[in-house]
Amino acid sequence: MPMRKNTISELKHHLSTDSIVSILGHKNPDGDALGSTLGLSLFLKTLGITSQVIMPNTFPEFLKWLPAVDSVWCFDSDQEKCEEQLKNSDIVFTLDFNSLNRTGDLGAFLATLDTRYVMIDHHQEPSDYADFMLVDTSIASTCELVHEYIVTQYPEAKLSEDIATCLYTGIMTDTGSFRFPSTTSKTHRIIADLIDAGADNSQIHQNTFDNNAVSRLNLLGRALQNLKVIEDLSTAYIYLSQDELNTYGFKKGDTEGFVNYALSLKGIKFAVIFIENKADQIIKISFRSIGDFDVNTFARTHYHGGGHKNAAGGKSDLDLSSTLAEFENTLNTYKERLT
Ligand code: 5GP
Ligand code: MN
Repeated sequence: MPMRKNTISELKHHLSTDSIVSILGHKNPDGDALGSTLGLSLFLKTLGITSQVIMPNTFPEFLKWLPAVDSVWCFDSDQEKCEEQLKNSDIVFTLDFNSLNRTGDLGAFLATLDTRYVMIDHHQEPSDYADFMLVDTSIASTCELVHEYIVTQYPEAKLSEDIATCLYTGIMTDTGSFRFPSTTSKTHRIIADLIDAGADNSQIHQNTFDNNAVSRLNLLGRALQNLKVIEDLSTAYIYLSQDELNTYGFKKGDTEGFVNYALSLKGIKFAVIFIENKADQIIKISFRSIGDFDVNTFARTHYHGGGHKNAAGGKSDLDLSSTLAEFENTLNTYKERLT
């Protein structure tokens, strides 16, 4: 449902070339988080406004080619520098998330800041920390909302090739390369705009998807062997233990998209991947669905998570085998909604 509190147009009165501006994405940033933050930062630069992009933790290898990606600061490796910047900020944009706890360890610090927060986001059930909001849960990606922000607030603005490249990437990754139901004709019109502005669509796809290491494909092979199908509940899940991840030299981002293989099975409406993370002592979980089954609610109810109706995430504090057993038990209570 569209929600546009404290319209973002008022933000203009608080933004000037003297402003100290930070732009934050969520923990484990994906293409939309990086594309939207970098795209916005590059755009503000064209207005003479300097901003600093900060991520809670490092980003995946397959996004390291993005324009200006080297300018990003990561809170987990540069805590003091990031805290100093945030403390001094007049404006903090929070992009592609809607609750401060989505920034992990940074969340508690953010809650103490006396700054103006701006939320540009498309996730369900936003919390109310922001002074300015551009929130629309019907839109496929935050990058589309950043594009909307730019073209509505600065109609004279010209998008550079780098800005267009960043925004294209986030739209591409969050729409599953323009195939999820949230992809609309408007999405394609924005994409057309971005290509006209210089985004090289074919090159962007290649940079993002055709840079696999052999170890990643071998890890995918392992994951597919760990595929379990529960036919009578139209569900399929995959799991990867920490030992398996180690065997294949796992790096952040390597499991991106694996869950979609489970979802691609004929007749499957609900797909899940469980990834053991021994360092954080959690099992990170990704949920995907096709059709009416609401994985945002499922993730919120059972796994301290959230997201969208058809794509959400969460975590379990149990060990891997207990998590899987507990998941199967929980799943049985959803029989009516899954058959
Ligand atoms: P993914 O499964 O690709 O990590 O995430 C799918 C969607 O769910 C994304 O929109 C992501 O931002 C959101 N998401 C992933 N993990 C969590 C989580 O732990 N909590 C919440 N609230 N959302 C999450
Ligand atoms: Mn997103």
